[in-house]
Amino acid sequence: MLLIRCPWCGDREETEFGYGGQAHVAYPPSAEQLSDDEWAQYLFFRDNPKGPFAERWVHAAGCRRWFNAVRHTVSNEFISVYRPGEKPAGGAA
Ligand SMILES: [Zn+2]
Repeated sequence: MLLIRCPWCGDREETEFGYGGQAHVAYPPSAEQLSDDEWAQYLFFRDNPKGPFAERWVHAAGCRRWFNAVRHTVSNEFISVYRPGEKPAGGAA
């Protein structure tokens, strides 16, 4: 069983969490001026690295709060977890 550390609750089983995709994808300024291709890039295109990846997670069966995590996509190791507005430890992502 994989343990994920919620920044508020501590280590909990992975079944308590939901995955929210890539972290730090900013809503585009002047979105109404984007072309269809640019809007599609914002909506659907995400990085797919082999290595550390900043992701959004929600502790759905716990405190129900969102947070960010840097997870290694090969080893599945959670390198760091941090609250929204915080920076990850070690400067990754
Ligand atoms: Zn929690």
